[in-house]
Amino acid sequence: MVEKGGFFLKLYARSTEFIYSKNQVLSMVSAVIFDCDNTLMDYMRMKRVTCEHAIEAMMDVGLEMEKRAALDLLYNLYKKDGLDDHTIFQRFLRRVEGKIDHKKLAHAIVAYRRARIGVLHSYPGTKRTLIALKERGLKLGVVSDASNLKLWTRLTAMSLDDFFEVVVGFDDTQTMKPARQPFYLAVSELGVAPEECVMIGDMPQRDILGAKRLGMTTCFAAYGYEGSRRNSRADFVLNSISEVPRIVDALRN
Ligand SMILES: [Mg+2]
Repeated sequence: MVEKGGFFLKLYARSTEFIYSKNQVLSMVSAVIFDCDNTLMDYMRMKRVTCEHAIEAMMDVGLEMEKRAALDLLYNLYKKDGLDDHTIFQRFLRRVEGKIDHKKLAHAIVAYRRARIGVLHSYPGTKRTLIALKERGLKLGVVSDASNLKLWTRLTAMSLDDFFEVVVGFDDTQTMKPARQPFYLAVSELGVAPEECVMIGDMPQRDILGAKRLGMTTCFAAYGYEGSRRNSRADFVLNSISEVPRIVDALRN
């Protein structure tokens, strides 16, 4: 439990139990800022499905490797250089075959791109949640470490782009969370104080830590996080994005 004020309030929701404290500052919630990958968008599911399609496509044109082993190798390469690595299939082929077979590479890329369009989805309840927040008069923002083009492409593919007053991507400040700059840019463009913001994200060391440093209220998107759920250090833990309006209501009352 995080202590923020003088008295404590226990709120029992239907699916989750929240225990939190409340003070005057928290009653001034006027904006909600979301991370994108694994918070609005089920990024890991997208990666899993697209990689499977790419491996199968390479197998169709002669890749001699077990699908499971190929996926494991691909994930290991991603782990090393990040999930947004553009040259992942080149590096994969070089590792497996010692050279780049451009036919296999082309099949992998085409299959990956085709599959991606179909699986760029937001988590269930995302749109309803954003509408509910808008109806409460809240300003909405996104702060992501993804490049601006990727971020806007993802938001557009999910038809979420019109919900946000401000969208901050890597290009805007050239810094990644938990640096203060992207958070500051978002709050200054929203015209609110950090203390009036609720930040929602799946990365404790980036989203939660960064937002807490500025005095924001924090929600840990446990539904999007693949690691241990413990010690997120957030004020709230979310099992679903649909829980956000209820938390905001409780903070404002
Ligand atoms: Mg994330």
